[in-house]
Amino acid sequence: MTTSATFQQHVLPTYGRFPLVAVRGEGCRLWDDAHRCYLDFCTGIAVCSLGHCHPRLVAALREQAGILIHVSNLYQIPQQAALAREINEEHVRLPGKVFFGNSGAEANDGLIKAARRFGHRRPQPDGTPRFEVLTFQQSFHGRTLGAMAATGQTKIQEGFDPLLPGFRYLPFNDPAALENAARPDTAAVLLEPVQGEGGVNVATPEFLRAVAAFCHAHDLLLFFDEVQAGFGRCGEAMAWRAIAPEIQPDGLAWAKGMGGGVPIGAFWLSDRSIDAAGTALSSLLGPGSHGSTYGGNPLVCAASLAVLEEIRGQDLAANARRQEARIRQTIGSWQLPVVTGVRGLGLLLGIGLDPTRIPTPEGKTPALVVVNRLMENGLLVPPAGPNTIRLLPPLNVTDAEIDEALVMVHDVLSTF
Ligand SMILES: *Cc1c(COP(=O)(O)O)cnc(C)c1O
Repeated sequence: MTTSATFQQHVLPTYGRFPLVAVRGEGCRLWDDAHRCYLDFCTGIAVCSLGHCHPRLVAALREQAGILIHVSNLYQIPQQAALAREINEEHVRLPGKVFFGNSGAEANDGLIKAARRFGHRRPQPDGTPRFEVLTFQQSFHGRTLGAMAATGQTKIQEGFDPLLPGFRYLPFNDPAALENAARPDTAAVLLEPVQGEGGVNVATPEFLRAVAAFCHAHDLLLFFDEVQAGFGRCGEAMAWRAIAPEIQPDGLAWAKGMGGGVPIGAFWLSDRSIDAAGTALSSLLGPGSHGSTYGGNPLVCAASLAVLEEIRGQDLAANARRQEARIRQTIGSWQLPVVTGVRGLGLLLGIGLDPTRIPTPEGKTPALVVVNRLMENGLLVPPAGPNTIRLLPPLNVTDAEIDEALVMVHDVLSTF
């Protein structure tokens, strides 16, 4: 039986999968079951930040697998402590504390729970807890009941109502829409500094600053979902720092690139005090309030630590900035009518496509038509919404690999 036939019989059909059967990877390259080699600029959707099977990540996994794979969070886990310190001291560089889970959606659920605890601790004047979290249109925060309700896209939520209550979706990058947005029960704002799934939309510095001022004015927590954008992807350790570095968020969510391919997610809460008694925000989730059986186990933490040390040690954020400039320069020089623009930051980039120039058979989106053509030519990229393709190469991608990919992109886009 072929892999796709076995899939059809035994796996829930939640993904519209391409026929490609992936069997092996190395760096930027991925091989299928017919030994065809692709240049992989999808990287598991911004997950394999060091490329496939990076020797440092493989060595960390092999070594830790032979020592201790899993132990309960009932005990002290040295790799988890070391990873939290690396994150706090070298990447966030603000006083705070980390909770480890297994995915981006779970990380956002953790932030939503923190917002509700905060809303109990700092209720409305009559003592009613606050609970509402403001998010933004076109956002993507994940697929759990909590993260799905936070997501500002009806197509993600279709048929799953009643949704978890307590969310409202504001227009992205529109400071004026914040004006009367706070209600008595509002407790927090959650946003992606660079929207990924929603089509690669970068928050403007003015907008991020307006959101921060809005949170300050209404005693709301400010959360950044950096699940896709964090840890070097956008050309800085944290994406918000590439936009408005002076902002000090109250909470952060991560997953994807932090593990380089091992399933790990995390959220962070600031140590800042939230009342006159000096209560730290990070103290609101005390013993028994939250947990995860797998979260932060020795194996994934050893792997993630190797990834983050490599990103920092090789200054891969700087490579992301440099390659962004090269990509923008090259695509700009083409002057292709089908390209409406390049959006994004660092190596979270979207190429906007003019849908009127791309024939779309079988109800496919223009982006999917282009993604399929690129795959035929040997380049893997994911779409981002109907009219954008994304470039998500590993953070250690070389000049030669970028140039090779751009030749394929040009070959395909110049036919429209
Ligand atoms: C992918 C993504 C998520 C969800 O992460 P999962 O690991 O799939 O749960 C949440 N937020 C953003 C910004 C993402 O890109």
